[in-house]
Amino acid sequence: ALVGALAACSGSGAGGGAGAGGGESTAPEDIQVGVAMPTETSERWIADGEAVKSQLEEAGFEVDLQFANDDIPTQQQQIDQMITKGSDILVVASIDGTALSTQLQAAADQNIPIISYDRLINGTENVDFYVTFDNYNVGVQQATSLLAGMGLADDQGKRTDKKGKFNIELFAGSIDDNNAHFFWKGAMDTLKPYLDDGTLTVKSGQTKIEQAATLRWSQEEAQSRMEDLITAHYQGGKTKIDGILSPFDGISRGIITALSNAGYGKSIKDGLPIISGQDAEIASVKLIDDGVQYATIFKDTRKLATQAVEAVKAYAGGGEPEANDTESYDNGKKVVPSYLLDSDIVVKDNITSLLVDSGYYTAEEVKAGQ
Ligand code: BGC
Repeated sequence: ALVGALAACSGSGAGGGAGAGGGESTAPEDIQVGVAMPTETSERWIADGEAVKSQLEEAGFEVDLQFANDDIPTQQQQIDQMITKGSDILVVASIDGTALSTQLQAAADQNIPIISYDRLINGTENVDFYVTFDNYNVGVQQATSLLAGMGLADDQGKRTDKKGKFNIELFAGSIDDNNAHFFWKGAMDTLKPYLDDGTLTVKSGQTKIEQAATLRWSQEEAQSRMEDLITAHYQGGKTKIDGILSPFDGISRGIITALSNAGYGKSIKDGLPIISGQDAEIASVKLIDDGVQYATIFKDTRKLATQAVEAVKAYAGGGEPEANDTESYDNGKKVVPSYLLDSDIVVKDNITSLLVDSGYYTAEEVKAGQ
């Protein structure tokens, strides 16, 4: 590990780093980057891992990529090992945003710069930079797509003159993932006027994130919560549900299964509620194309990977990465300088322009759903 050469550029640890002028540059081939990803059960993280690895390797860095199977001790162990095996810089997408303090302290003690990837790592001084999407805005987009699908807003989020009373239910992500709170806040702020004036009703009354949360973003857990909601509040499927706020495509698919099994139909035309999503997972993109799921949010993981690689290059060059946001992400110990990317709402009509034309998927993949 070329810890010495990188020491001057780390912003972590006592003294807060030297910054400009203090760092020495190290050749990429002499630098090992540890990349810790949460899980392979959702395809976005596989795509993230591969994109970060290949872009780093293209730039000449050596890469140690690990996936932690959504298991916190596994991720802790993987990061411990990256440090012992000589990683000089770490890129970490955490499972539980608060569970890595010991590992990151060990890294900081060796002046290893730590880049928080997509999900903010909380409760530690030892995170130097954060690359992510504008997570609050992702939540706004999720709620906007729900409202647009229900005809209550246009696709810019402007309220239409459609009147009426509609039933919705709300799902949130994993409570230990900092992002889940941003998505929820953005979505709830957007839905609030409609809830306040009675246009939208959440019959279950479950309007707190703790009640709506889905641990580890689990599809199965979402399906079973949806089944319980139908049984308890919608007469086992006899009362109409018009929309569901879902924060992730896997959760959306669990919700769809529960609703279809309860007799809500197999497509929106057929009676399924309007359901949002996130990540543009291929299985959900197909469902959108088929008129089953209404929308998803596309976050281009290739671009996020590029920002992570830019940050790595900055540290390797003895400098600091460039932030475009220095106030939104307080991790409880510090406000972490961040680089935020934009995301897009995907509906049936723009699958081709957003996902196929950009080369994210081929038209065949969209048709096949894989
Ligand atoms: C990510 C989302 C993803 C979710 C579940 C969040 O931290 O930002 O893109 O849907 O985790 O994997």
